[in-house]
Amino acid sequence: MATWQTPGAAARPPLAGTAPAGTAPAGTAPAGTVTLAPGRERSVLRWHPWIFSGAIERVEGRPGPGDTVAVEDHAGKLLAWAAWSPVSRIRARIWSFDPAVTVEPAFFRQRLRAALALRRDLGLAAVTDAMRLVHGESDGLPGLVVDRYGPVLVLQALAAGAERWKRQIADMLLAETGAATVYERSDAEVRRLEGLDPCRGLLAGRSLPRRLTIQEHGLVFLIDCVGGQKTGFFLDQRDSRLAVRRLAAGREVLDCFCYTGGFTCNVVAGGAQSVLAVDSSAAALQAARENCRLSGLDCRRVEWREADVFQELRRLRDAGRTFDLVILDPPKFAPTAALARQAARGYKDINLLACKLLRPGGILVTFSCSGGVSPDLFQKIVAGAAQDAGVAAQVIGRSGQAADHPVSLAFPESEYLKGLVVRIAGKHSPIHTGRTPACSTPAMAAP
Ligand code: SAH
Repeated sequence: MATWQTPGAAARPPLAGTAPAGTAPAGTAPAGTVTLAPGRERSVLRWHPWIFSGAIERVEGRPGPGDTVAVEDHAGKLLAWAAWSPVSRIRARIWSFDPAVTVEPAFFRQRLRAALALRRDLGLAAVTDAMRLVHGESDGLPGLVVDRYGPVLVLQALAAGAERWKRQIADMLLAETGAATVYERSDAEVRRLEGLDPCRGLLAGRSLPRRLTIQEHGLVFLIDCVGGQKTGFFLDQRDSRLAVRRLAAGREVLDCFCYTGGFTCNVVAGGAQSVLAVDSSAAALQAARENCRLSGLDCRRVEWREADVFQELRRLRDAGRTFDLVILDPPKFAPTAALARQAARGYKDINLLACKLLRPGGILVTFSCSGGVSPDLFQKIVAGAAQDAGVAAQVIGRSGQAADHPVSLAFPESEYLKGLVVRIAGKHSPIHTGRTPACSTPAMAAP
């Protein structure tokens, strides 16, 4: 028990036991001690920040949601400080693996500064004024997401610990970034798993500007922090949007799940001949039209279509339409690995239809942002789709979340976005239907 000390303290600070559960002053004394079952310290020793309910042998004290707890191994050795979350299966999320650290405002300021330093090092300011400033566990701040849109920061508190500290963090963010506003969009479904209700509204600073736009690689996008998807924009796709722009010249493009036109505007900027952009949200399409105009692009080359992509792909197939470039950037089909099978069917369906719509030499740019679908599984699904569509196809590029969405090596779960750039080489020869006893097809032969 006595192997740890806080700076300036000769012994463990007393448990915040006099305060009612859940109301212990944030960051002073730990509100409880969590002892892990034998052997369950292994993941903590590898710096994995999650402690599942099944790993816990006993809890001392009465910690409430978001309270700081000490995490000890079976022998009573202090391993980490964590935020307690009594409802979630992830019962505690580790703030620090350093026994000498005190979880207090100065700790959060230091973590925020480290996160901001990474973004400065990435040199993103040269290409955009919109970026993710804090990416949860991978920036050492479990459950906290902060996105910057020019003068506005949008904060998501997705776990009990982040919820506990969000106001102090919001004030620090204003001071550290010079931004004018911190707006909260804590309305993601995952909050329910933490026993937290959705909430949104102004957290710190001035109220939101009436109209907010950002720039990315020379294009302009309207941002709706209040009603838009996620925090307003898909910052994670920044690199892929630019990569697709470079593939677009002279092509007839189909952009599925186009949202506010991120990919569409980029392919027009890249010289696409035409774009059919499909989304089920009228509001997103309205913003997309406006974005195309704001960026000074030739809007006549784009047809915006409000439709369900699953149905629209079938309609296009039945009408005999073909394209040179198809982009599939669907919403998350599988938030957890348990739903991966169901998600796989959805991905297979749209990728198969896209393969059928592509001309030989055409390119499929296809994504999955489902954390439950691994890059390996995703490639297998796309391979199955190409096979069922009867086309030979080659992976000519891969992409993932932009670097302002880092993946801690100790926390691979934070890698969620994967993309494949696939060239349709041509129709498969009959060998693959089992009718011709040849050993390779020209389209699949090595160069
Ligand atoms: N490619 C976009 C992000 C796509 S987000 C970008 O880079 O900005 C997913 C989009 O899919 C949302 O705009 C949502 O409205 C849309 N959507 C979800 N289900 C859909 C469906 N079945 N058919 C069409 N659009 C759908």
